[in-house]
Amino acid sequence: MACKFLPSRERDLCNMPPRCVSYIMPEFNRATLEALRQPLESGRVTVARANAHVTYPARFQLVAAMNPCRCGHLMDPNRACARGPRCGADYQAKLSGPLLDRIDLTIDVPAVAAADLALPPPAESSADIATRVAAARTVQRERLAELDAKGKLTTVEADPAAGLLADRARNWSKPRCNADTDGALLAAIAEPDAEGRALLARAAERLGLSARAWHRTLRVARTLADLDGSNAVRRLHIAEALSYRRPQTRSMLAA
Ligand SMILES: [Zn+2]
Repeated sequence: MACKFLPSRERDLCNMPPRCVSYIMPEFNRATLEALRQPLESGRVTVARANAHVTYPARFQLVAAMNPCRCGHLMDPNRACARGPRCGADYQAKLSGPLLDRIDLTIDVPAVAAADLALPPPAESSADIATRVAAARTVQRERLAELDAKGKLTTVEADPAAGLLADRARNWSKPRCNADTDGALLAAIAEPDAEGRALLARAAERLGLSARAWHRTLRVARTLADLDGSNAVRRLHIAEALSYRRPQTRSMLAA
């Protein structure tokens, strides 16, 4: 539990239950949104003060939504945004490039027309999808358990000098799914085949992918391969993972 004397945004981050889902929009204060960057990257948040700094667990899954512009009509073919395209540019600029770079899956959702409401339900139900997701997570757990049995997984060590005390270090368990993996472990489980690696290298050059985006793309591709029942991360998994990344310019990433 976070200290009640922490500033509100850090206290909120620290109090997030593990794996919870949050929801943000550009209306949120910029400083509050930027405070998400560290926990989104590392699953922890460090509060620094003059005499000490302390680190808390803050691993969560972020689900965010935003309109294309403030009035919401920018991309709507039936309604015009009176201030477009500036309306959209100003509104979307409220989310910084580095924050967007930490969001793995970005999907445009068109407005639902009245005629769409009369369509039959999708062929695959939410329950069916949940079953597929559970199966993929089982594959991930078993893969990581196998690596753990070989001594390939390390735990987070307490480090009082970095504000990471023993009781908090225990809250960072060993990785249990693809989202928890990084560094050499990610490279070991998500190495794509030759075609996939070539595609990722080309995309990194053309889209200006950051090192962070490269690793996040690999992580998503590994999960897509698991959903596909494939041991290997193939070109199509890399291609689909790349399709979910929001294109960004280098100047946005440096913001
Ligand atoms: Zn607008």
